[in-house]
Amino acid sequence: MISFYPGPSQVYAQVPQWVQEGYDAGVLGMNHRSEAFQELYESVIRLMREKLEVPIDYTLYFTSSATECWEIIAQSFTQKGGLHVYNGAFGEKWAAYARKLRPLSLEMPFPLEGSPRAQEWAGEAPELLCLTHNETSNGTALREEVIADFRHHFPNALLALDATSSLGGAQLPLEQGDIWYASVQKCLGLPAGMGVLICSPRAVDRALWLDEKAHYNSFTSLHKNMLMRQTTHTPNVLGVYLLKRSLEHIPPISETAHLLGERMRQWERLFTPHCPIKPLVAHAALRSLTVLPLQGNAELITSIKHQALRRGFLLGNGYGPWKETTLRIANFPAIRTEDFTALWKYLSEELS
Ligand SMILES: *Cc1c(COP(=O)(O)O)cnc(C)c1O
Repeated sequence: MISFYPGPSQVYAQVPQWVQEGYDAGVLGMNHRSEAFQELYESVIRLMREKLEVPIDYTLYFTSSATECWEIIAQSFTQKGGLHVYNGAFGEKWAAYARKLRPLSLEMPFPLEGSPRAQEWAGEAPELLCLTHNETSNGTALREEVIADFRHHFPNALLALDATSSLGGAQLPLEQGDIWYASVQKCLGLPAGMGVLICSPRAVDRALWLDEKAHYNSFTSLHKNMLMRQTTHTPNVLGVYLLKRSLEHIPPISETAHLLGERMRQWERLFTPHCPIKPLVAHAALRSLTVLPLQGNAELITSIKHQALRRGFLLGNGYGPWKETTLRIANFPAIRTEDFTALWKYLSEELS
């Protein structure tokens, strides 16, 4: 069976081999205060720079998930709270978690077929902006102009972006943001159980100045440990190792993004006026590169998912308000292009 679920998702076919090699090399029981772990950490940093274009002065931390990053960002990077800008379920969840820690957090929902406008909040001076780069629930992504617009209107605010389902797939404007994070079970094609947090020097300075220390995962301790290429607690060492192996394996991000773009264009040929399903997001410019939700009547959506599964294609369910009337297809790099084409062929025959 091939999974097109947008998380947890199809992992790289090489994962079993990497696990075996990690086991043989003694990685699974590796001490996280050892020199070997420090070298492993260091090589992930180097590979993130090489393959994913992480700027040289940005720092990298391992967390357990994107959800953990939501809390770390609220607790360690804000005093009063940030401004949360979102159009879907994940952005809304982030805001909900942040509100519990920082009740004065602000929220700015925007419509599915629109772009948020920084100008509308020009009167505010938020300390932190929270944007979802790739909204996995509805398959929208923020264009670079939107990110630049927020940067421009709020020069003093830190800019945090959730790239959980785009890091590793899309070419991200990392320099434009201060805090980026993702978990590994989406676009990075690895088993769930780890997240990565990437910070600009400005973000680091701000958090060290706030010096919040109430939690095991307070940024000050993450940073102190990172400087020694260590972690606050015993981390998912296998996850770190698999991240290293997958980063060695993948091409530079510009190539990956190009390939994913070609694959998305192939899908567009499916949506003729007669096709009973269509992309949830009508404006192509607002669509995500990595997650494609398709909309149709609820019965048809259920039947497509069911039939596809019998052919060995697991399609993703809709999410939140779009649960019944959409299905989601992940366009993640760990899914091979030939599998993608096979699904495309199958659906175009079924739906024509
Ligand atoms: C999946 C997802 C999350 C949550 O990831 P966890 O690893 O479960 O914490 C957060 N944000 C986005 C955009 C996601 O797609």
